[in-house]
Amino acid sequence: MHLKLRIARLLSFPARSEVLPKTSDAHYQRCHECDMLFLLPSLTRRHTAYCPRCNAHVDSGRDWSMKRLTIIAVTMLILMPFAWTSPLLSIWLLGARIDASLMQGVWQMVKQGDVITASLVTFCAVGAPATLVAAILYLRIAPRIGMNVRPVLLMLHRLKEWIMVDIYLIGIVVATIKVRDYAFIQWGEGLVAFIALVILSILTIIYLNIGQLWQRFYPQPFQKTANPHARVCLACHHTGEPDERGRCVRCHVPLRYRRRHSLQKSWAALIASLMFLIPANLLPVSIIYVNGTRQEDTILSGIISLGHGNIFVAAIVFIASILVPFTKVIVLFTLLLSIHCRCEQGILARMKMLRIITWVGRWSMLDLFVISLMMSLVNREQLLTFTMGPAALYFGVAVVLTMLAVEWLDSRLFWDAYESGKHDAT
Ligand SMILES: [Zn+2]
Ligand SMILES: [Zn+2]
Repeated sequence: MHLKLRIARLLSFPARSEVLPKTSDAHYQRCHECDMLFLLPSLTRRHTAYCPRCNAHVDSGRDWSMKRLTIIAVTMLILMPFAWTSPLLSIWLLGARIDASLMQGVWQMVKQGDVITASLVTFCAVGAPATLVAAILYLRIAPRIGMNVRPVLLMLHRLKEWIMVDIYLIGIVVATIKVRDYAFIQWGEGLVAFIALVILSILTIIYLNIGQLWQRFYPQPFQKTANPHARVCLACHHTGEPDERGRCVRCHVPLRYRRRHSLQKSWAALIASLMFLIPANLLPVSIIYVNGTRQEDTILSGIISLGHGNIFVAAIVFIASILVPFTKVIVLFTLLLSIHCRCEQGILARMKMLRIITWVGRWSMLDLFVISLMMSLVNREQLLTFTMGPAALYFGVAVVLTMLAVEWLDSRLFWDAYESGKHDAT
């Protein structure tokens, strides 16, 4: 059982600074979400530390050794060709067996000329997990031959949320239920390898402690005094003073007081995503030809027809494709406005909302994965053909833009607005 460690000692400025013993791992650190400086005690494997002010996940004692990570990465490497190229689903249609694999689905999208949507699906289901494996293997080999591992560690910080094999697995279930209306369907041989790949990648994401890796490869002395000039690096979460070139001493990324143009970039991505969401919901997302007649489905009409067969799966697709993107846009819109209005009410609730939309945003890719699988399954020329409508591209771009809008938003601005609101009131 994981023991949640709450840091009991809060520090705010001006505070009497206290020098900690050099032998202990306890050190001063700033929260990367609210910028508070606090004392982080030494953590054991069972400990997880949360920020005392905003409740952000700050650090965890959980850590897999490089040896274990390498074994997992090699196993994933062996599984990958089977998971991606072996059939995940097979259908019997008009006496013939048709197999669908991940790569075939992507290839069908490319053949129809939609390279951007195909690249999106490839990146999230193939590219990102492959990069994770390559990064772990690189971390194992590179230090021995004196190569720089900083870029790989920086990339790992951002890579986690783009690994979407778990969502693809749910996509396989949804595609099964959709195709059941047209043909007899079976699980394919590649599914076992795919499920194993999903489990291993989830475990790796949970147990890969990037903070510990930074400390192992580029050890830096901890902050033993409550130094008000120390800043937190958003790229590697190290707290310290910038070097003579204004960079983080550990990862060499410029150390700024706040993320540059955060609000402008976040607004731009949000407005753009809203503009893409409109055609994504009005235009057809999938087109089925049955005996020469064309039947178009928008995201909503597709969910309604899915609801006649299986209400539970229709609910999942509804949440992933309609509820999540629109809620995310509305929540982000109110969050950005609250910074401009220097709002101080419900700051903890707002931080929680930001974390929830960061977590759920990636699930919106579900529909694109289902479409890509369906395209390789249901393709019988004149008799029965499933193709992608123009909305799929708009939808994919909108999802990526909302993910970027959240990524670019510097949550410390909420706390700046909160503090300035408080000062105005007094
Ligand atoms: Zn915090
Ligand atoms: Zn850094």
